[in-house]
Amino acid sequence: MKEVILIKNGELALKGLNRSTFEDSLIRSLKRRLKELGEVSVTKSQSTIYVEPQEDGFDFEEALARVGKIFGIAGYSRACVCEKTPEAIYEHAVQYLRPVLETAKTFKVEAKRADKSFPLRSPEICREVGGVLLDAFPHLRVDVHHPEHTVFVEVRDYAAYIRVEQLRGAGGLPVGTAGTATVLISGGIDSPVAAWTMAKRGLKLNAVHFASPPYTSPRAEQKVRLLLKKVAEYSGAIGLRIVPFTEIQDEIAKCCPEEYFTLIMRRMMMRIAERLAEKSGSPALITGESLGQVASQTLPALVTTDAVVSMPVLRPLIGMDKEEIIRISRMIDTFETSILPYEDCCTVFTPKHPKTRPTLEACAASEAKLEIEPLIKKAIAETTFSIIE
Ligand code: ATP
Ligand code: MG
Repeated sequence: MKEVILIKNGELALKGLNRSTFEDSLIRSLKRRLKELGEVSVTKSQSTIYVEPQEDGFDFEEALARVGKIFGIAGYSRACVCEKTPEAIYEHAVQYLRPVLETAKTFKVEAKRADKSFPLRSPEICREVGGVLLDAFPHLRVDVHHPEHTVFVEVRDYAAYIRVEQLRGAGGLPVGTAGTATVLISGGIDSPVAAWTMAKRGLKLNAVHFASPPYTSPRAEQKVRLLLKKVAEYSGAIGLRIVPFTEIQDEIAKCCPEEYFTLIMRRMMMRIAERLAEKSGSPALITGESLGQVASQTLPALVTTDAVVSMPVLRPLIGMDKEEIIRISRMIDTFETSILPYEDCCTVFTPKHPKTRPTLEACAASEAKLEIEPLIKKAIAETTFSIIE
């Protein structure tokens, strides 16, 4: 039996003239994510996108899993395709729906007839298919109000499609339709969630990670790669820049008052991330900060880190509790990796009494002895680039 995936767009329906751009972008994402699984055709017709395997070895289950992670899809379903004659529809319905209906108690049938030359009208299709299914599965009952399963039969121009309910898609907007942004990624719980949350709104991602060997181990870096790989299952490929940060941390420790260490470090990260973002054509930064979560995330502290960049800093987690953030990280499967123990550079020089109400002036004064510009230039010159997908 031939199976296909039928996809309903998410918010795309609302986008008026942009709609076809969005749909094309979604189709490109689908093709990119599915092509490794075998030959497949991805086409649109009216408001549905059809994913049709073109060869026997096509990994259909994996394709379904991948489609479930592509942003811009509200709902999707697997369906069986057959010739559009009443007999073929009855026969395929029984065969195809057997695994679902055998264990169900109640069902109903809904039908759509896009091809008006088909001999049965929609209510007749419902009645006939319903009857055939009742004959084949005598334990079933029809319940039009609260059926356990709704069987959909659609007669389209070239074929008929038989399926049960839709699965819920990842929602959001197709990646890339909102532009590109650069996420500051640590090995923690928050920043991968922040990255995923913004990719969901249609942003393509670049990433910057600050590594401080030997204070941080190569495994911390490996952890960041693993986290981004998980995010990339949703966002598509991510360009990762790893910035050597040891010298900057040493210089901060040498030249600045201890209670400002974290803030100055965060300011240096923001400055460097902004320059790397500019170079790679990304006009905004993303961080995993959440208001009040730690000393460097109080409002006065955020003011001092924002002050050193002119790009907008997107902080999608700003109003979320840790519990909500953890819920998302479990859902996108980054949590278990995030809680692996390897230190990231923030924990290396944590002051005993960090400033929670810094002023801009005091912050600037506390980094007066730091050779900011040469340090930034050197770190950028030694930055390495790789693509995570
Ligand atoms: P996370 O769970 O994302 O590490 P956090 O709660 O530990 O966040 P901080 O360590 O204060 O908070 O970091 C705040 C934000 O700064 C992070 O969400 C991330 O965007 C960025 N950041 C922190 N450390 C690094 C790093 N080593 N490289 C790149 N970005 C970083
Ligand atoms: Mg952290």
